[in-house]
Amino acid sequence: MPLILPAMRPQIHSKLPNVGTTIFTVMSGLANQYNAINLGQGFPDYQMSEELMSLVNEVMHKGFNQYVPMQGYMPLRESITEKVEYLYQVKISPDTQITITPGGTYAIYTALTTVLQPGDEVIVFEPAYDSYIPNIEINGAVPVLIDLNFPEYKIDWNEVRKKITHKTRVILLNSPHNPTGAVLREEDMKELSSIVKDTNIFIVSDEVYEHLIFDNILHQSILRYPDLLERSFVCFSFGKTYNCTGWKLGYCIAPAELMNEFRKVHQFNCFCCHTPSQVALSEFLKNKDAYLSLSGFMQQKRDYFISLMKNTRFDLLNSGGSYFICAKYDRISDEADKEFAFRITKEYGVATIPVSSFYKEGTDNMVIRFCFSKKNETLETAVERLAKIS
Ligand code: PMP
Ligand code: GLN
Repeated sequence: MPLILPAMRPQIHSKLPNVGTTIFTVMSGLANQYNAINLGQGFPDYQMSEELMSLVNEVMHKGFNQYVPMQGYMPLRESITEKVEYLYQVKISPDTQITITPGGTYAIYTALTTVLQPGDEVIVFEPAYDSYIPNIEINGAVPVLIDLNFPEYKIDWNEVRKKITHKTRVILLNSPHNPTGAVLREEDMKELSSIVKDTNIFIVSDEVYEHLIFDNILHQSILRYPDLLERSFVCFSFGKTYNCTGWKLGYCIAPAELMNEFRKVHQFNCFCCHTPSQVALSEFLKNKDAYLSLSGFMQQKRDYFISLMKNTRFDLLNSGGSYFICAKYDRISDEADKEFAFRITKEYGVATIPVSSFYKEGTDNMVIRFCFSKKNETLETAVERLAKIS
């Protein structure tokens, strides 16, 4: 009989000792607590497509309620193939190069987990979406941080050249960018190509905002660049494209050899995703208008929000994409951004996201992020409140 001491309990050795609750959950919790308008966490407050909802309902009644293959429902993968060929002039195999995932975040995590070994380095641009660094660290790898140039939030490619070592395994990209709305340009892609050429470096490209891009800017998907695609995992989210963030459904595209490894990780973590949504989306994806109209719709929201904000003392920065726009508040206060964001939620009833949360070391440029994918009335009431802050 093994000796068990009564007071002995297994002690957890945290894999993520420095991680707390995400700022999105914190700010949405605070918004609920103080009955504030939530311009913090990124999600629309208007209804998604009625047609898509009906389709899901219909296919459930038709009996599409059991597992699909672990790679995802084949007709959906075929629809994605057609869509990316139309958008980015590239032929992707539905059989070997696409996997449906429970959201974009999971696709990014799985891609990183597929390639990273302990001690590998990953180039991450800050501010960075908050899942990236924990995803790297849980794999025993090391984030190598590079600040985007404030306030344009552009990549300094010379800095990237300096930070590359023999241990660099991944460059993590995100365009349109959360939280800043910055977008990559053709020149950026050329720089990237010249940097990774003949190296062992993979690219993980977070393109969940591919359809939320404004002012006729072309989305610089990795899928447009065969020399980059051959070393990339490209991650997308249906939640962003179809106003259904709670569906948590997305996909990853990669060359067959990389996708084969990705699927080894995926199949024993998730196996397959929600069947009725995949069946419905396989049809709905054929409607080009539903995704092509999104940037015009969201650009109007951005522009409306910008026009309303002229009545406040916030100074908005540029946003070329995503559903976010950042603002400096140094004409109002010299508080730290978290303190300021917490206070205006409590005192003025508007929740936002402090941008220092997207920096590992908490760099604070006194900037907060607003989400404008909201009904016009929501934006109006929020800005009426923000205009009272002096
Ligand atoms: N990447 C970025 C930059 C995001 O803003 C989001 C939105 N949450 C995601 C990935 C994840 O998308 P999903 O909800 O599909 O996991
Ligand atoms: N992507 C959303 C944002 O940046 C939130 C997603 C989440 O809460 N994890 O606000």
